[in-house]
Amino acid sequence: MTITATDEQALLARVPTGLLIGGEWRDASDGGTFDVHDPSTGQVLLSIADATPADGEAALSAAAAAQKSWAKTPPRVRAEILRSAFEAVTARADDFALIMTLEMGKPLAEAKGEVSYGAEFLRWFSEETARISGRFATSPDGNSRLLVTKRPVGPCLFITPWNFPLAMATRKIAPAIAAGCTMVLKPAALTPLTALMFAQVMQEAGLPAGVLNVVQTTSAGAVTGPLIADSRLRKLSFTGSTEVGRRLIKTAADQVLRVSMELGGNAPFVVFEDADLDKAVDGAMQAKMRNGGEACTAANRILVQETVAEEFTAKLIERMRTHTVARGTEPGSKIGPLVDEGTRTKVHDLVSDAVSAGATLALGGERIDGPGYFYEPTVLTNVPAHARILQEEVFGPVAPIITFATEAEAIRLSNDTEFGLVAYAYTRDLNRGFRLAEELEVGMFGLNTGIVSNPAAPFGGVKQSGIGREGGHEGIEEYLEIRYVGIADPFADGQDSV
Ligand code: NAP
Repeated sequence: MTITATDEQALLARVPTGLLIGGEWRDASDGGTFDVHDPSTGQVLLSIADATPADGEAALSAAAAAQKSWAKTPPRVRAEILRSAFEAVTARADDFALIMTLEMGKPLAEAKGEVSYGAEFLRWFSEETARISGRFATSPDGNSRLLVTKRPVGPCLFITPWNFPLAMATRKIAPAIAAGCTMVLKPAALTPLTALMFAQVMQEAGLPAGVLNVVQTTSAGAVTGPLIADSRLRKLSFTGSTEVGRRLIKTAADQVLRVSMELGGNAPFVVFEDADLDKAVDGAMQAKMRNGGEACTAANRILVQETVAEEFTAKLIERMRTHTVARGTEPGSKIGPLVDEGTRTKVHDLVSDAVSAGATLALGGERIDGPGYFYEPTVLTNVPAHARILQEEVFGPVAPIITFATEAEAIRLSNDTEFGLVAYAYTRDLNRGFRLAEELEVGMFGLNTGIVSNPAAPFGGVKQSGIGREGGHEGIEEYLEIRYVGIADPFADGQDSV
């Protein structure tokens, strides 16, 4: 279906532009607003309320006020709200996809993929809501009983990035709702419109006032800092860069706040000589080019065994060459613009640094003229070990290829990073696959697949890629705390069993 300017305007007219606090859509307390731009044109899409620290405070007060009664709602009620929200987001998939394409730039087809992925967290956690359980046991000495229960952590603060505007929010909001927590969401200033539309859907799905509050702002630190220092807040869940995550962990330490951190990655994508090379190229395209390379899971270093490096590289270049760069609403667009000029400059700096360090520019390597922040699909070969691009997240459509001789070398190179989010490998040797699954220092490993994200699986990293997991059975645990009740032996007063 072709999207017209009228379709875009009609959708934008339906997006809420206020802050959601205590169930009311409000202007910012000082009346301030900020503009949200379309990265494919640089044009303003909408002007929306810009939260102040006082608004952040009001949002936390609303979340704190709603916490007690929300925690007491029957699990089935919370499950039904999540299920209705899943159905509503799915029914409005085209709207959600278009708003994401407009504010973030990804092609519509990818945005639709994110809508199903993001919505699936609502369905998955609606199913998990009624399965929160504890345990009961007799102590080893037989003298007492141990009752272990799980309770909602309490009011949460969620800070989310711009690259997956829906899924990064639902991955936190859905398990928090399931567990019985209230929350304040601060979406990225570059892409707040999806979160605002989603918050409206949650209201329509019957979420009580104050359970979800949304404070978009251009002053992230000033608005969230006082909340992190506020003793009413019980949990911080952040998805974003390792640099900001480190700072937030330090601030959160003052309150010994529970934190979940979904941070940056530097994923190795390893191709062994026994791999099905065509499938490996398919996987590399998914792992590298999904979301235009603007993904924490993006293959950042493509490691290819020397014996097949030439063949694999030729195939990858051919696929990258024919990857259509266009505004995300254009039919056939495979890659949209980068999210802003800063991101494009960083991508280009990393490419230039690699070339000056001795890498060969095999494809692309330039900004594309015209409005918007487009960048050519780029392949670098012979990238030297000291090039910055092998240590830092590229966050763009750039594939740096390096070669290795042995499995041991591939493992050593893969682990040679401060990050540990995800790794991918292609091999037909199952034993090798299991060896890699044990040896690679990551939270997630894709064996013969270029995609690991799955709402039913625990997403998250080790090392400086983060703390905690989102999704799967594990995801709800981030929003539950354990209470243990010690009970005296009910037979201690001489009663005996019959
Ligand atoms: P970012 O700059 O760290 O920003 C992430 C969020 O933090 C945004 O909402 C941002 O607000 C906010 N923020 C920035 N400075 C802050 C501060 N001092 N105090 C409180 N909040 C602050 O990251 P990004 O550029 O948006 O996203 C890209 C990064 O996210 C990459 O490193 C990527 O790997 C990572 N990521 C990780 C995962 C994962 O699951 N591991 C998933 C997706 C992305 P404003 O934008 O409004 O300033």
